[in-house]
Amino acid sequence: MIQVEKLSKRYGDHHAVRDVSFTCAPGTVTGFLGPNGAGKSTIMRMICGLTAPTAGRASVLGVPYRTIPNPGRHVGVLLDAAARHPGRSGRETLLLAARAQGVPDARVDAVLDEVGLASAAKRRVGGYSFGMRQRLGIAQALLGDPAVLILDEPSSGLDPEGIHQMRGLLRGFADRGGTVLLSSHLLFEVESVADRFVMIARGRLVAQGAKDELTQGR
Ligand code: ADP
Ligand code: ADP
Repeated sequence: MIQVEKLSKRYGDHHAVRDVSFTCAPGTVTGFLGPNGAGKSTIMRMICGLTAPTAGRASVLGVPYRTIPNPGRHVGVLLDAAARHPGRSGRETLLLAARAQGVPDARVDAVLDEVGLASAAKRRVGGYSFGMRQRLGIAQALLGDPAVLILDEPSSGLDPEGIHQMRGLLRGFADRGGTVLLSSHLLFEVESVADRFVMIARGRLVAQGAKDELTQGR
């Protein structure tokens, strides 16, 4: 469960986010849509306690993200491609994260396999393509077997097969009761996997609802 209540963020005179409210329920994938610069990343960062809102509040699993102990075990997050140690392999990168979270090492190989990165797991992250880094980020988000996934543009850099694979993965996650918030500036990337949409433009919420509600009359 993710709740966003009247969130606003101002940078100087610039209103990056204005009075946005929405809820993401368990068992659903919410497609978070809007053009580049609409405020999606800012909202996701506020949900994860990385950016302080000017007004409003956000909670994950009923509490502010920052108050969740060992958050990776509850909420998997992929925000703008995290800085990685280029000399470590994908597997080593995840092993460190797993140990920090108290997740068994075996889980690392499971999530690498889930995102289609098993064959590249022993290669240096420095040699990964952008798409492979995205896959690694998704694997890391899944590592702690969380109940909630917050993924900012996870499809960017993925080839069509990668996008297809991610859709299946997220659909399965939601069908097992997980909550997914999935941003994209491209409708087609989230259309087939999302149950609900939240659309923003210039920092404002412009529409939200179930897929069939929003496509009525088209
Ligand atoms: P999106 O993720 O939808 O592409 P962002 O949330 O990244 O949009 O950006 C929303 C707006 O806020 C943009 O106009 C962007 O330039 C501005 N913005 C984002 N972060 C900052 C920042 N740290 N300082 C100033 N302006 C920012
Ligand atoms: P993009 O070029 O859009 O970033 P990818 O990152 O999916 O697309 O793939 C770029 C290249 O990286 C592929 O042609 C392949 O050689 C290699 N690659 C991608 N994913 C894997 C993987 N899971 N295992 C091994 N090699 C991969």
